[in-house]
Amino acid sequence: MQPTLIEYDADITCIDTMYLHEGHAACYLMVNNGHAAFIDTGTGNTVPYLLETLKLKNLNIQDVDYVIPTHVHLDHAGGAGLLMSKLPNAKLVIHPRGAPHMINPEKLIAGATAVYGQENFKKLFGEVVPIDEHRVVVAKDNDEIELGDRVLKFLDTPGHARHHFCVYDKTSDGIFSGDTFGLSYREMQKGSVDFILPTTTPVQFEPEPWYASLDKILAHNPKNIYLTHFGCVTEIVKLAKELRQDIAKYAEITKQYLHANNSENKIREDIESYLQKRLQPNYSNEEIEQFTQFLQPDLNLNAAGLKVWLSRIEKAA
Ligand SMILES: [Zn+2]
Repeated sequence: MQPTLIEYDADITCIDTMYLHEGHAACYLMVNNGHAAFIDTGTGNTVPYLLETLKLKNLNIQDVDYVIPTHVHLDHAGGAGLLMSKLPNAKLVIHPRGAPHMINPEKLIAGATAVYGQENFKKLFGEVVPIDEHRVVVAKDNDEIELGDRVLKFLDTPGHARHHFCVYDKTSDGIFSGDTFGLSYREMQKGSVDFILPTTTPVQFEPEPWYASLDKILAHNPKNIYLTHFGCVTEIVKLAKELRQDIAKYAEITKQYLHANNSENKIREDIESYLQKRLQPNYSNEEIEQFTQFLQPDLNLNAAGLKVWLSRIEKAA
């Protein structure tokens, strides 16, 4: 199980979780004075890669102090329980709204099984293992923990999900953003220019809290943002502006279909056209075609999440 790694400054290693395909989802290992932490874990199938990465870094399983999923979606936290079972000294640090689901993952499993089916569930996520509540530390907004002489601060960042925090690390001047700072795949990077898009996965997309979360991230003036999907981006102010515009556009598109039939498909078509327009200034027609195909799974998830949000608005109206 040879892991695919990207090494960044400040003892941060990006590890490919191998979820869906190479380059789709990452998690991170951070080290300080022999103390280690994983930020996001990938799925149960990722765990062998994480243990192998420790070996490559000459670290023991005893050296891992913390396992820190940014939120409890299974591509970020599905492997947390299995990983914790291999790490005798580790505490799980998690958002208050995520903690119950890590201690008893039944609802997470049922939710994902409903979406993906029993057989696919196992293939995609492997084994989802409950975590002993005595090993779980809840991190509220602005709470801090120490890793060696490094301080990690947690920022409550709803918008993608209400159980989402981001992790600010002063040492790297970086923020681990989970899904709050959107998706930006390395395949789509052109020179030093990144392309970013939001991830509005079911079931807790909320535009207004998301804008506030982006403001909170920008207020820390980070030099680096470490995305789960995928890797480090540095043009923070520009990307945040684009992300905010995209979220607003997604919300506007969605609201057009209030009480409409077949709204999910219509939303799906509209966000795809919008995406293609966004790509036009920087990419050839051939590349746009290629990236539209490449982003199909994300567009499907985004449309499904927007539809859930629309249904909530319809019910409240
Ligand atoms: Zn997510």
